Amino acid sequence: MAYSSEGGTERVWHKAGDADGCTGDWTCSNCSAKITELPFAPDKSRLNMLRCKDCYRTMRQSFRR
Ligand SMILES: [Zn+2]
Repeated sequence: MAYSSEGGTERVWHKAGDADGCTGDWTCSNCSAKITELPFAPDKSRLNMLRCKDCYRTMRQSFRR
């Protein structure tokens, strides 16, 4: 009769903590680094254009100088 509050396998996907965090196995299109989690759900048609955190940050910084 003990219903433990541990059973939450459905939530494992949101490991990153953020609501829209996504985990997976991708490769950075810029430096070929491995990407295991993203702050957003990647578009399937853009999986070849994914960037790792570092490249993403660099990209954004180079935009506004
Ligand atoms: Zn990269």
